[in-house]
Amino acid sequence: MTDSIFSKIIRGEIPSHRVYEDDFVIAILDIAPLSEGHTLVIPKEPAATIDELSDDHSAAVGRVLPRITRAIKKVTGATSVNILQNNGADAGQAVEHVHFHIIPRFKDRNENVSGSPDKNNGPGLRLDWTPGTLTAEEALELGKHIKRLL
Ligand code: AMP
Repeated sequence: MTDSIFSKIIRGEIPSHRVYEDDFVIAILDIAPLSEGHTLVIPKEPAATIDELSDDHSAAVGRVLPRITRAIKKVTGATSVNILQNNGADAGQAVEHVHFHIIPRFKDRNENVSGSPDKNNGPGLRLDWTPGTLTAEEALELGKHIKRLL
């Protein structure tokens, strides 16, 4: 894969607001935050998407996500948090290096979960979550094929 901006940040070649680092992972403040405290947790392995990430780096991210989330909640006073992880351009991924967004959410602030246009157009995460259906037959068929690969 090509060298991403996050690889350059990991190597210290370009500046960042680093809030955490260990042998496998860094966490930095997002430069264009959706909300106060928006943080990116980034494995040092240069995998573009989650399906390319090694078990060790994946485990390292999982180990620190709750701890970093706790710190962010405490500092910002966030009442809720979204952990968002985009993989591929069709999923909205802009930087081709695995990263987890920790996006603090606040009661009564402008960003809201439903995506309703009632508030303002300022920064924030607005989710348009429109559920479909899953029949028992579909679940059985799909589940069978997925399980076979795991
Ligand atoms: P994604 O769409 O999931 O790939 O998100 C990429 C995120 O990286 C966006 O939220 C950007 O604001 C953030 N970002 C891009 N460049 C930098 C940077 N140099 N420092 C911190 N965050 C960055």
